[in-house]
Amino acid sequence: MGPVILEARDIWYRYPRGMDAIRGISFHIRRGEKVAFVGPNGAGKSTLLLMFNGMIRPDGGVILFDNKPIQYDRASLRDLRRKVGFVMQNPDRQIIAPTVYQDVAFGPVNLGFSAEEVQAAVGRSLAQVGLSGFERRPPHQLSGGEKKRVALAGVLAMDPDVLVLDEPTTGLDPSGSEDIMELLEELSHQGKTVIISTHDIELAYPWADRAVLLTNGTILQEDVPDVAFGDPDLIKLARLSMPTLLELYMELKKRGFSLPERKPRTVLDMLNVIDRAFRNRPCYTEPGRITVYDVDAPCGLSLADWKAGHAGVAIGAMGTRAKQRAAEENIPLDFTYGVIDKCILKALLGEDSLIVTTGSMVGRVQERVREFGRENRIEIPVNIAGEE
Ligand code: ADP
Repeated sequence: MGPVILEARDIWYRYPRGMDAIRGISFHIRRGEKVAFVGPNGAGKSTLLLMFNGMIRPDGGVILFDNKPIQYDRASLRDLRRKVGFVMQNPDRQIIAPTVYQDVAFGPVNLGFSAEEVQAAVGRSLAQVGLSGFERRPPHQLSGGEKKRVALAGVLAMDPDVLVLDEPTTGLDPSGSEDIMELLEELSHQGKTVIISTHDIELAYPWADRAVLLTNGTILQEDVPDVAFGDPDLIKLARLSMPTLLELYMELKKRGFSLPERKPRTVLDMLNVIDRAFRNRPCYTEPGRITVYDVDAPCGLSLADWKAGHAGVAIGAMGTRAKQRAAEENIPLDFTYGVIDKCILKALLGEDSLIVTTGSMVGRVQERVREFGRENRIEIPVNIAGEE
C-alpha cells in the first residue's frame, strides 16, 4: 500500500439542532486502498464521507488530504474536489443535466477544460463505466444501475485520486450491485483509492482491504475485514450480522475442526476450509484449465471463434470492457462477478473455463491462480487464448 492519502484526527460533528453525528473519529487511509465504512443506518457514515471532500466541515479535529489539513476556502475546495470524487447515494440528486454527455461533462467544463479535453474526458469516463454510446440519452430514462454509473462517470471525468461512494449499491438488484462492486475493483486496480460506506456487511467482506465498523458516530473496530467483523459482540453492538462464511468458519472452529488459519472470504476459500476439516486433504484429481482472453491483445480469434472451438466451456468476464466485448459478440456469460474464484472452482471439478478480461487484469488472474495453487498444492494450468 502507498503512503497515507486521507487522515482524520479526532473529528467531531453535530448537525444544527441535532445530536453529535461524529464523535471523536481518527483513521488513516492509504493510497490505493479499498476501504469500507460499515455500520447501521444513522451510524454517521454519510456524514463522515461528506467530510472527505469538504462538503461538511468538522466542528472539532482536522482532516488531512495528502498530509495537509483541508482548507475550506473556495479555491482549496475546488482543488480538493477534483482529487476526491464523491458519488452520492441517490444518483437522482447528483445527475442534473438533460443528457448523459452534458452531465458527465459538467465537472470538466467547470474546471475550465477545453472543448476537446471535455470530449476526451467524457469519452474516457463513459468507457470506464461501460456506458459508451449513452451520450445522448436522458438520464431519467436509465435504470438505477446505469444512473449510478453516470454519476460515477461524472466523477471519473475529473480523474480523481480518491473515489468516495456513499452506499454504492442501494436500490440496485443483486446483479447490478455485483457490477458496481466489480467496477470498483477494476478502478482500484487502475490505482484509485476507493472508499465506500455500506450497511451490507456481506458485500464489504470479500471486497475491502480494510473495514471500519462504525456506530453512533464512533469507530468500534478497524482492521482487515475478517478481524473487523470477527467479534460477535461488536457486530451485535453495531446492529449487524456477521458475514455468513465467517460465522460458519467460527462455528466449525468451535467444534474443534482443524482449519486453515486464513479465514474464508469467498465460497472458494470456504471449500478449502471444508476440505481440510472433513477430508484433511484436497480431493481434486486432474484440474481443469483456465484460459484468459485479453481483449486488449488481439490473438487472431474472435470470442465467438474461441467459443466455437471449445464447446461447453464456462465463460466469465472481468471488467466493463470485457463485458462489453462479450455483449458485442453475443456471448452469454456464466460469471460476471468473483470470476477468478468461480473459474478456479470449475477447475477443481476438472472443468475448463475462459476468463475474458483486459490487459491490466491478465496478470491478476495468473497471480490469483498461482497463489491458490501454492496454498493448496495444486497446479491449475492458465493459458492465454490464441497461445494454447
Ligand atoms: P448513516 O449514513 O450511517 O446512515 P448519517 O451520517 O446519515 O448516518 O447520520 C448520522 C446521524 O446524524 C444520525 O443520527 C442522523 O439522524 C443525523 N443526521 C443526518 N443528517 C442530518 C441532518 N441533515 N440534520 C440533522 N441530523 C442529521
